[in-house]
Amino acid sequence: SEDMLVRSEKLSVIGQLAAGVAHEIRNPLTALKGFTQLLKTKNEGYISYLDIMSNELDRINLIVNEFMTLAKPHFTRFNDENLVHILRGVISVLETQAIMTNVDIETQVEDCLMIIHADANQLKQVFINVIKNAIEAMPDGGRVTIAIRSNFPDSVCLTIRDEGIGMTDSIIGKIGQPFITTKEKGTGLGLMISSRIIEAHHGTLHINSRHGEGTEVQITLPLAKPIIAEIN
Ligand code: ADP
Ligand code: MG
Repeated sequence: SEDMLVRSEKLSVIGQLAAGVAHEIRNPLTALKGFTQLLKTKNEGYISYLDIMSNELDRINLIVNEFMTLAKPHFTRFNDENLVHILRGVISVLETQAIMTNVDIETQVEDCLMIIHADANQLKQVFINVIKNAIEAMPDGGRVTIAIRSNFPDSVCLTIRDEGIGMTDSIIGKIGQPFITTKEKGTGLGLMISSRIIEAHHGTLHINSRHGEGTEVQITLPLAKPIIAEIN
């Protein structure tokens, strides 16, 4: 509707402003971080204060970086992409982090070509966010199961399941709001950004979570070309 159009235009202006501000904040931040490190070598008596300053600067930097991603959906470039290829690339990047915390990533991929109309970089961002959350939910190790299957005839369903800490009802109720995080070094922007990116791809993102049992994130995306039934 017209109302929604106005709203989405407003959001896009806000997004561009946010990206601009975020970009401007990054340069002074880099200088502050550099001089904080330098002071640490000169003022042994203040090291604990300087460590706090340095950690807080890291935190601002993390939030600013995620904000810039949030604003990027306005510069999307859609191409025909092989979903499995994008996913495998992301998994190979996250494998190191997984191994360090004893997490096993298992992939179950249906043997069928799944081409989607997508901005590959943004989808990578989504998969990184969601798989990282799964790994972070299992500090003592465990298994992340990633499955891709076609939803005959014209969409594909991707599930990322972990056997981690799960979410409390209070967190589940707040999902989608910015800055909701239970992590010391979290930003609480990952899921919000991921949902927005999936929406821009005309897909859906659902979360099923049980506290103490695990979480499953289900993403569906439309296929660029419908699957043609095999005729024997
Ligand atoms: P962040 O990871 O920076 O905290 P996210 O938006 O990615 O931000 O996630 C928000 C919150 O949702 C997390 O802090 C965590 O409490 C919860 N969460 C997300 N994914 C999972 C998961 N797989 N298992 C348990 N909790 C999760
Ligand atoms: Mg996250």
